[in-house]
Amino acid sequence: MRVVTVIGNRPQFVKAAAVSPLLRERHEEVMVHTGQHHDDELSQVFIDQLGAPQPERELHIHGGSNTHQTGLMLGAIGPLLDDLRPDAVLVYGDTNSTLAGGIAAAQKRIPLVHVEAGLRSFDRDMPEELNRVLIDHAADLLLPPTEASAAQLRKESVAGRIEVVGDVMIDVAHRTRAASLARGQDLLAELSLTSGEFAVSTLHRAGNVDTREQLSAALDVLASVGTPVVLPLHPRTAQRLEDFDLRDRAERELILLRPLGYLDFSGLLLNASAVLTDSGGVQKEAYVAGVRCVTLRDTTEWTETVDAGWNTLAALDADAARAALETPLPAEHPELYGDGHAAERVVAAVESLAG
Ligand code: UDP
Repeated sequence: MRVVTVIGNRPQFVKAAAVSPLLRERHEEVMVHTGQHHDDELSQVFIDQLGAPQPERELHIHGGSNTHQTGLMLGAIGPLLDDLRPDAVLVYGDTNSTLAGGIAAAQKRIPLVHVEAGLRSFDRDMPEELNRVLIDHAADLLLPPTEASAAQLRKESVAGRIEVVGDVMIDVAHRTRAASLARGQDLLAELSLTSGEFAVSTLHRAGNVDTREQLSAALDVLASVGTPVVLPLHPRTAQRLEDFDLRDRAERELILLRPLGYLDFSGLLLNASAVLTDSGGVQKEAYVAGVRCVTLRDTTEWTETVDAGWNTLAALDADAARAALETPLPAEHPELYGDGHAAERVVAAVESLAG
């Protein structure tokens, strides 16, 4: 089979690192990188560290409004699909790249595979939510990570076939654990931190960083944690700290770093006492690492982590975050996101399209 995979942002490089090497053992894959995340720190580092393939096609599309960006991507991906005539198009998650790749495939009647289908925050103020819903209804093959996400797809009566595969990001977390632990030791020494005596944070959702008021409130939460907090800065957040004149304050109160490579970030996470984040992927990774998570949002797609008692939705409320940090962790830690072999199931499901 020939499969075109469309990716564009940081977590999609991680997901592709799980699936692409397996897919390429038996099939031809053409990886299209839209350019949505173009900094090396958010893209190339994952290719180098995790063995995701170097994209065969790069579209260099980034910036602008979601509408403009998606339109440019659609315009570029359409002719590319005419040229490549793949047997399937594979997309991950919920970004503009997911939407553009998916709509282009659906318009050309090329079978569309959506990995990480069925996730919902039920918050239409998040641009990602619209992307998820639209792509799930355009897809021919939906590969949700959990039974709960499959149930959501059935409830919405999606047209495509549904198959639960587990979570491909978790495949990568399992595979890299030893290497991440080793990197973590080096990083702790460099930063003079002690395992279990610091928290790690990530912050980049538009709703949290795009106004001064929200970003100040997020800093208030992080400053109230009571242990050192390491914050590797997403470029969007770094820019907003400058725009809102908050960089000096953040530097005084937190340990600011550049965006970290996957192994370094996971190394910190595995040694942290807690994670405070507005990321989707990091909530899951914290769960699998057995680290308490405080989510700086009032909704989550990864509700099972909350139900299991390992994740608390604190939004930007410092009191709620502190209360969550003081609550004892549950004794139970069920396997929520599969056994680390989701990518094998993705490849088998894609092959089933060939009949
Ligand atoms: N991550 C990383 N370095 C960092 C912060 C995050 O490698 O400095 C990884 C993290 O381990 C996870 C992914 O990036 O695999 C999550 O990406 P992000 O938070 O940007 O996206 P989301 O999951 O919220 O869509």
